[in-house]
Amino acid sequence: MASSPERANPTLAAAGEQGGYLRIENVRKEFDGFVAVDDVSLDIRKGEIFALLGGSGSGKSTLLRCLAGFERPTRGRIVLDGEVMNEQPPYERPINMMFQSYALFPHMTVEQNIAFGLKQDGLSRDAIRKRVGEMLELVQLGKLARRKPHQLSGGQQQRVALARSLAKGPKLLLLDEPMGALDKKLRSRMQLELVNIIESSGVTCVMVTHDQEEAMTMASRIALMDQGWIQQVGKPDEIYEQPANRFAAEFIGSVNLVDAVIDDDQPEYVTLRTPAFEAPIYIGHGITGFEGQPVSFALRPEKLGIGKSEPDQPYNKACGTIEDIAYFGSHSVFHVRLPSGSKLLVNFANQQRWASDELTWNDEVWVWWRDSDGVVLLS
Ligand code: ADP
Ligand code: MG
Repeated sequence: MASSPERANPTLAAAGEQGGYLRIENVRKEFDGFVAVDDVSLDIRKGEIFALLGGSGSGKSTLLRCLAGFERPTRGRIVLDGEVMNEQPPYERPINMMFQSYALFPHMTVEQNIAFGLKQDGLSRDAIRKRVGEMLELVQLGKLARRKPHQLSGGQQQRVALARSLAKGPKLLLLDEPMGALDKKLRSRMQLELVNIIESSGVTCVMVTHDQEEAMTMASRIALMDQGWIQQVGKPDEIYEQPANRFAAEFIGSVNLVDAVIDDDQPEYVTLRTPAFEAPIYIGHGITGFEGQPVSFALRPEKLGIGKSEPDQPYNKACGTIEDIAYFGSHSVFHVRLPSGSKLLVNFANQQRWASDELTWNDEVWVWWRDSDGVVLLS
C-alpha cells in the first residue's frame, strides 16, 4: 500500500490482455427485499476510467459502495487484482473513495491533508515527505502546500482531495459524482484535469455520474444503468452511435425514435415500414430480426439533411413543415412536423448559416438520411 503507484499508463489494448483487473461477478444488492443492484457483471481493465452512468436511483452509488466495502453484496463476488474483496472491511481494501464533499480536514494544510493517511500507516517522515511531494506535483499544487482548504478554490480543493485519495497508491479509485459541487464552467475544466491526473497516476478508476456529458468526456468505457440493471456497456461513441435499446438511445443525447415493422429482411439489407413516414426505411446491413417484427428506428438529429428540394432517393426521406427553430449558437435545431403527426428534430451546423437563412418557420422541407445513419432497436 505504501509503495508508489505505477506510473505506467497502459493503453487499453495492452490492458485488455490482462483481463478484468476489477471483476464484478453477478453482484446483487437488496435492501429489505428491494433490489437496488440486480445481477451486475462487469470486467474493468487496469488503468481504465470506467463510468457508471444512470438516472437518480438506478443503483450506481450502491454498486460503488459495494466496491468500497460500505455495503455488502447480497450475492455475487468482487475480485480486484485476483483477490476476492467480499469479506474485507473497507479500510483493508486497496481502494480509496473520494467523496463529493471532499471531506478535507479544515484545520490542516494541504500538505497535512495529503499526509494524513500515510502518517496513520506509520510511514517514516522521509517517506511521507517524498510521497507528499510527488502528490503535490501530480496535482500541481506545490505552491499552495501550506494553505488551508478554505483558502483554496473549489477546483483546488478537489485536487487536494484527489491527491489525498491517491497518496497511498490504491489499486482502485472510486469517485461518486465528483463534480457535483462545482459550477458548470469549472466542471468541464475539472473533468479534463481529473482525467489527466488519474491517467498519469495509472490508477484504475470507477466513477459514478448521472451526467452523460461527464461520462462521455471522462470515461474510456461506460456502463449505462437503469433500475439496478446494466443496459449497455461500451465506449462513449459506441453507446452513442450503436445504442443497444430504446433506453440507451434516449438516455444519451437527443434522438428521433419511430415505431416501425420489419418489411423485408435480407442478409445485406433490411427495409422497414412505419406509419411515421410515407417512404420506406432502408438500412444497408442485415439485422437479426424477422419479417413483421415490431422494432424502433433511431436517428440522431445531426445525421439528417434538410432542404427545400426532394432528395433523389426512393427511401429514407420525409416531407414536412418547419414548426420551430431553436438556435444554439453552434447549431440550430429544426422541428419538422410530418403529415403523420410525427416530428423530426434536425440539427443544422451554423457554419452553414448562409443555407439555414433560407429556411424559416412554416416552410415545407424535405428531410433525408443515408442508409447507414439510423439504428434498428429490437427492444
Ligand atoms: P443512484 O446512485 O443511482 O442514484 P442509489 O444506488 O443511491 O442510486 O440507490 C438505488 C436505490 O436503492 C434507490 O431506490 C434507493 O432508494 C435505494 N437505496 C439505496 N441505499 C439504500 C439503503 N441504505 N436502504 C434502503 N434503500 C436504499
Ligand atoms: Mg448516487
